[in-house]
Amino acid sequence: MTVRPITIVGHRALSQRTRRVREVTTELRTLVADMFETNDAADGAGLAAPQVGSRWRLFVYSCPDAGGTLQRGVIINPVLERFGGIELDEETLEGCLSVPGEGFPTARHRGARVTGTDLEGTEVVVEDEGGVLARALQHEVDHLEGSLYLDRLSALRRREALDAVRDRGWRAHGILTWDPLQLEAADV
Ligand code: ZN
Repeated sequence: MTVRPITIVGHRALSQRTRRVREVTTELRTLVADMFETNDAADGAGLAAPQVGSRWRLFVYSCPDAGGTLQRGVIINPVLERFGGIELDEETLEGCLSVPGEGFPTARHRGARVTGTDLEGTEVVVEDEGGVLARALQHEVDHLEGSLYLDRLSALRRREALDAVRDRGWRAHGILTWDPLQLEAADV
């Protein structure tokens, strides 16, 4: 398994629509294994394929549900249903590994249910209401539609987030990816 570079806002892969997976190939299994490793290295709640430059319609998640239990898995060709009404909780910051540096309160539905398949082709249903997982499911499906959580913020907060990315030098020299392993080394 390999930790892959994570794409940063402005990278083409983040604004493209994804392609449905028709067959689970060896390459796809490697992609998923690498995505788990990359998400763990970056301490993320979830990671969608465009965040490692891939166009396949899938994401991995690893975060607690409303009951505090860690939920972890991959969903291929996910279909999202939202329920429970939209909330904007000013105390809860949402962030994104592709917009490193900041988090902002983001309006989301309380509940989310995602239906798709796993690597064995078995149908999976993942559901949460009021937990980190409910937010992550909505966030990751946004990525697969070519959109970022920034698109759900006010113009002012969106600008603030983009300024933070720029100010920290993330987009220096036109390199629109970052490597979680190098960041770890730099922090130590
Ligand atoms: Zn994200």
